[in-house]
Amino acid sequence: MQTISEELKKHLLDSIRAIPDCPKPGIIFRDITTLINNAPLLLELIDSLKKYYACMNLDFVAGIEARGFIFGAMLSYALGVGFVPIRKKGKLPFKTMSEKYSLEYGFDEIEMHIDAFRGKQNARVLLVDDLIATGGTAQAAFNLIESLGGKCVEACFILNLPDLKGAKNLSEFVKVSTILDIGN
Ligand code: AMP
Repeated sequence: MQTISEELKKHLLDSIRAIPDCPKPGIIFRDITTLINNAPLLLELIDSLKKYYACMNLDFVAGIEARGFIFGAMLSYALGVGFVPIRKKGKLPFKTMSEKYSLEYGFDEIEMHIDAFRGKQNARVLLVDDLIATGGTAQAAFNLIESLGGKCVEACFILNLPDLKGAKNLSEFVKVSTILDIGN
């Protein structure tokens, strides 16, 4: 992403806390709370994303629960477009469309309100989450956006775990932008 300098990338990487064996042995949890509580860094990140996405004629930013809400909602405000939450099953109060996806063991499900795009045909949507790993969550979110008549024009993640190939697989369907690649 051209609007993110190497210096900003370094500061972002330094700001993200790695918690080993969380939530289970062998997983390194990438904790972005230590990025978002750093006001100047957060401002620079959102400003840089705004510069990159300002020319893309977006109608909505869609964020994946829960940490995608944080970055997605800030970016939607900065861009002056609506924010759409993509939530875990059973959380949204109105009529929903849902999509199942597989986890390491079993399945999970995410949902969107059926009127999330306010009836706009081919609404131009940016999908946002904090991190892409296997890509299962993001692929399900992409499918939901498109099933509801939106056009997912790009998917944006602060962190990418390239060894798990989620970003690579998703890029067969939509342009994927990631800011930081982290090896396992
Ligand atoms: P995946 O569907 O495998 O791409 O997983 C992506 C989702 O799980 C995102 O919503 C992330 O917030 C979360 N996630 C997966 N792995 C990690 C990790 N190592 N650290 C923090 N969050 C993670």
